[in-house]
Amino acid sequence: MKTLKKPGILCFLLLCCCSVIGQQHSNSFSDAKIGAVVIQDQFWQPRLKQWSTVTINDVFDKFEGKHKQGAEEQAKNNALNNFKLVADGKLVSGRHVGFPWFDGLVYETIRGASDYLKNYPDEQLEKRIDVYIDNIYAAQVTDASGYLNTYTQLVEPGHEWGNNGGFLRWQHDVYNAGMLVEAGVHYYRATGKTKLLEAAVKIANLMCTGMGPSPKKNMVPAHSGPEEAMMKLYWLFKNNAALKNKLPVVVQPNNYYELAKFWIENRGHHSGYPLWAKWGNDASEKWIRDPQNQSQLINSRPTWGSYAQDSVPVFEQQTIEGHAVRATLLATGMAAVAQENHSPKYMQTLHRLWGNMVGKRMFITGGVGAIHYDEKFGADYFLPPDAYLETCAAVGSGFFHKKMFELTHDGKYMDELERILYNSLLTGISLSGNKYTYQNPLNAHNHKRWDWHECPCCPPMFLKITSEIPGYIYATDKDKLYVNLFIGSSANIQLGDGNIVAIKQQTNYPWDGKIVLNIEPERKQEIPVYIRIPGWAGGIENPYQLYTSDLHKPISLLINGKQVKINKVNGYAVISRKWKKGDKITMELPVQPRIIKAHAAVKDLQHKLAIAAGPVVYCVEENDAFFKQLQLTVKPAMVQQYNKNILGGVNTIAVKNGNKTLCTAIPYYAVGNTGDKNAYNVWLPAVEKD
Ligand SMILES: [Zn+2]
Repeated sequence: MKTLKKPGILCFLLLCCCSVIGQQHSNSFSDAKIGAVVIQDQFWQPRLKQWSTVTINDVFDKFEGKHKQGAEEQAKNNALNNFKLVADGKLVSGRHVGFPWFDGLVYETIRGASDYLKNYPDEQLEKRIDVYIDNIYAAQVTDASGYLNTYTQLVEPGHEWGNNGGFLRWQHDVYNAGMLVEAGVHYYRATGKTKLLEAAVKIANLMCTGMGPSPKKNMVPAHSGPEEAMMKLYWLFKNNAALKNKLPVVVQPNNYYELAKFWIENRGHHSGYPLWAKWGNDASEKWIRDPQNQSQLINSRPTWGSYAQDSVPVFEQQTIEGHAVRATLLATGMAAVAQENHSPKYMQTLHRLWGNMVGKRMFITGGVGAIHYDEKFGADYFLPPDAYLETCAAVGSGFFHKKMFELTHDGKYMDELERILYNSLLTGISLSGNKYTYQNPLNAHNHKRWDWHECPCCPPMFLKITSEIPGYIYATDKDKLYVNLFIGSSANIQLGDGNIVAIKQQTNYPWDGKIVLNIEPERKQEIPVYIRIPGWAGGIENPYQLYTSDLHKPISLLINGKQVKINKVNGYAVISRKWKKGDKITMELPVQPRIIKAHAAVKDLQHKLAIAAGPVVYCVEENDAFFKQLQLTVKPAMVQQYNKNILGGVNTIAVKNGNKTLCTAIPYYAVGNTGDKNAYNVWLPAVEKD
């Protein structure tokens, strides 16, 4: 945001897929073999409904400038007009609304809206998107090659893909193209319409023609995201060969896969210049834009620096570095390629980066990207309470966790995805569904949500991940059925052998730990059901002990009312039996309040504690004067209570000293919704009692 000064900028994010259900282990992006997952609960259903209507339209309205007063102001802020200007041939007009990556943000919103349309059909919204698609399509056909990047075309013509004195890291040509590709795939999947998919294929083909091993150009996205997008395009056609014939353009799926691999494996392979760390962003940009230097880069390219994970080759990266959104999206793209090539080199790198992030650089809310400057990861154990933590980075790491689950079927990855969903992601939106955050510090002063931002990257990313939530609840692997999230819902799920299982889940999670599951297969046979046992519930707050809690309570598991011993495999309770109508699994997770402490290596969090209950991290929201005198003991007494009338219905936790309430904690995601407090703290000061 403030770093928005120029090169240092950027935001954003990306993707994943819909449900994994019924897909092969190796390929998570085939059409899911699951009927829609219908969510019926008190927590997510009202939210998803609100986001599918209020939030999507709010985001499109604001991209159209409708939050501004007067027709002139609105027109000046209408980012959709960028496409119209290009379509009308008004090139070199210098008139471009927003930053160069606004095309990408519009595509991302279309992608998020597409996935919502699948679960929440909305004719009006679909019509609205069709008009945008007509404009995007019309803009693209003005260039015979299929090129489209409205910023470059309107402001820096001749600098396509950052060539000829351009600056790709600023222009975002490849990033925007990647977002167009994923939007085309998602909109086709939601509606069966091919117009945006055609635009996606054209720009993908153009990139495949020009970028790759010599004699093509060595070019990688300066902002990751396109890597996974190309895998989605590849999988779409690989799994539906007949679809090619419905398009008036050539489709070559293998090329999309090859380019995704090239982009990943060619990171760190460049001229070594500019020296970002030494010269700074401005001088580095100047060097890149100098035509004399460009002419020396015939067989090479500039480096995008550690900021864009481009200082060393990807397989040599030991730690997760640089701009947190880019880093998590690169990892997501790498994981997507690994689903196809099963390369041990990819897997080793992914495990290493994930371990470094989750074990040493992740906040208790799941947020990542500690440092404001360059919006980047900090050093190991640098986890200050006032850290930056962009909403988009939470989304990017959520996608990374999800992909790691798809690759390994280990529950620990879903633990971390769940942490994000209930904390660092959910705090990014107001209860009203139309105010957002960019930074999400754990302790803050005068932290407010905004109506709109000069870099509104976070709302589209928010829509991209929340639209996928129904697809995160269940998964399959051959004949195994996974229950990953505890959200009241029902679905029909097809297993690898074709058997269809009707599953129903009832719960009042996260406010209550009781989860009831009914499993009813069409054909009677033994089916192993894997129910995730969240790490926190088993006393493992973090797989690397970055955080530890004082919770040591048993988890109860019953089948048809009879207690059973938990057979735990990779973070799941596994129950295998011939399920029959009426069979019922009941699990009870210990959602009472617990105290969390950080690892001794985290200097900023010593003599501090955080409160959580179930997957929800809590905080105290008060005024400054209150925090000046607040001091807790390391093991305070806590009383949890459900309050249906505050903050949309939440459990609050009163922290007690005898009969006296020292403070009352609310879910961290709900801060900033009442307006009468100016500060909140997740990490609270604590002292050992004498
Ligand atoms: Zn953002």
